[in-house]
Amino acid sequence: MRELLRVASGDAVDLAAVDPRSTPGLPDRQVTGEDRKAWARTQVELLGAGLGRHQEMLFASAKAPAGPAPSGPAAGRRVLLVLQAMDSGGKDGTIKRVAGAMNPLGLHIRSFGPPTKRELAHDFLWRIRRALPAAGYVGVFNRSHYEDVLVARVESLVPEATWRARYDQINAFERELADDGLTLVKVMLHISHEEQGKRLLARLDDPRKHWKYNPGDVDARARWNDYQAAYAEALGRCDTDAAPWFLVPADRKWYRDWAVAHLLRETFDTLGLGYPAATFDVRRERERLLGTRGPVKVNGR
Ligand code: ATP
Ligand code: MG
Repeated sequence: MRELLRVASGDAVDLAAVDPRSTPGLPDRQVTGEDRKAWARTQVELLGAGLGRHQEMLFASAKAPAGPAPSGPAAGRRVLLVLQAMDSGGKDGTIKRVAGAMNPLGLHIRSFGPPTKRELAHDFLWRIRRALPAAGYVGVFNRSHYEDVLVARVESLVPEATWRARYDQINAFERELADDGLTLVKVMLHISHEEQGKRLLARLDDPRKHWKYNPGDVDARARWNDYQAAYAEALGRCDTDAAPWFLVPADRKWYRDWAVAHLLRETFDTLGLGYPAATFDVRRERERLLGTRGPVKVNGR
């Protein structure tokens, strides 16, 4: 899936060439749509269990008391899933279903909204650096520094020269993170204009979903083509071997979850994780433990 969903780097990715309803990589089971959905959902659960095990190994390797001092990328090893999408693109659902399969103890989930006054007083990567996962953690970014070449560009929040310069700044930043042991998995959840319309309408038609609706979403929707162009360029310019971009067709939620779970699983596999060896004499500790007697009585009690 990492090969199949990786974008082609360059000036801009051809988003229109990827059908948001397509299901690349899904085994051809020659079954009906409903069956494919059920199959994918079961697979996500199975993949989720595997993700949980990998996350535990990652966490354990960071917790292991230092034997010989670890050096190189393995020292600060962590994983960061960056999720970007148009409104209602499914970032929250992906976090719930895919990240939700892992142990909350080792997860580090952050969402980025419009920058605060304090954040605006710093450069755009300042708040991102502060939100990075520590060694051993799996981080998830719900939106990210990419907003600064997406909404910032479309809404002209900064001059063009400023956002244009950010592609190189982002690439340098992500290279630095990779050198520091952070494995980035950047995913754009690719939904169609039609699907977004349906999802926003569903938010309006169900009072239990009103909290998810933001009147500004309709304004952003009116600038759909501008956003698609901004995404296309951001993905093309910032797809690097150190920090690749993946494009996940996301009109079908069950495929989206399956694809993202796979991408994470394959990423974990490249890390060659294992459980750290004990830094104590296991046999001796066993003997000591079995040799312990009942609670010592104090004052006859
Ligand atoms: P959903 O996809 O379910 O609508 P959401 O991610 O849009 O959820 P919200 O809290 O509704 O969550 O919106 C976050 C808003 O913050 C978005 O409109 C986004 O464009 C904006 N935002 C994030 N980062 C920046 C940034 N650097 N500059 C300006 N706006 C930003
Ligand atoms: Mg929103």
